[in-house]
Amino acid sequence: MYLTEKLNITTPSPEQVVSPLWENIQSIQLSVKRDDLLHPVISGNKWRKLKHTLVKAVQDDIQHIVSFGGGFSNHLHALAYCCHQLGIQFTAIVRGDYSNNLSPMLQDLLNWHVNIQYVSRLTYKQRTEANYLYALQNTYPKALIIPEGGSQQQALQGVMDVVHELDQDYDYIVAPVASGGTLAGLINGVAEICPSTKLLGIGVLKGPEYLEQLVTSLLPKNLPNPTNWHINHDYHCGGYAKSTLELTRLCSDFYQQTNIKIEPVYSGKLFFALRSLIANQYFPSGSRILALHTGGLQGAR
Ligand SMILES: *Cc1c(COP(=O)(O)O)cnc(C)c1O
Repeated sequence: MYLTEKLNITTPSPEQVVSPLWENIQSIQLSVKRDDLLHPVISGNKWRKLKHTLVKAVQDDIQHIVSFGGGFSNHLHALAYCCHQLGIQFTAIVRGDYSNNLSPMLQDLLNWHVNIQYVSRLTYKQRTEANYLYALQNTYPKALIIPEGGSQQQALQGVMDVVHELDQDYDYIVAPVASGGTLAGLINGVAEICPSTKLLGIGVLKGPEYLEQLVTSLLPKNLPNPTNWHINHDYHCGGYAKSTLELTRLCSDFYQQTNIKIEPVYSGKLFFALRSLIANQYFPSGSRILALHTGGLQGAR
């Protein structure tokens, strides 16, 4: 596709068998889908989620995009880079005021000529409310507004490509979950392509009910088998972007043992959960498990 070439996205991303030095690792087969390698700047799953929205934006000759995120957001970073490359003006609405304390992510945004609007946590909370979005659209009448994390129904199609690209059928696909778009896209893809595959989401933030609802709200209403997915909430390590010594150690050990870089906010929690679930024989012996490496290494700078 034209946009994929223009942005130099390398698809399909590689699938790689790994064997870190974990208890019981020999009882299963663990593969990693390397979406972290899709592009050196555009973080893996953020590209998957944005792809069709951006294709349509270019088709519709959209000149301005507005979106939301925190001060280290992989979504804002990926979208800002894409807009910069495509010559689309970008306004980033950022939770909290980092103007005197720029993160590397925000510094990149400034270099890419992004219009950064810092808003209070209270204002940020309104980001999905109709009144707020109506006012925002009035401020920027011609802009395309994309929700936080790029998680909207349009995102599912791009994430389904992950499943389309797979070399083999897996018993399990495991992925981190924050705003739910990635898991929803995987559920959709599995339903279409390999309905016997089970999906396991690893919640990276606190708030069980809320994550399930987010995912469900994104799914098409007529999905045939909505019972093959599950979110595990035991590995958020204290909440979003919270870390523990054990988690940071796992990240560096995993890199040493597999040569794959992971970070503590998303992929670290994914592999932290996998190590523990494999040790506890959660997966039947002989299971083929695919871990989706969603990227995100820029956020760890
Ligand atoms: C945003 C992000 C996620 C979470 O994906 P959701 O679709 O929001 O659930 C996972 N991994 C990385 C690296 C991310 O940047």
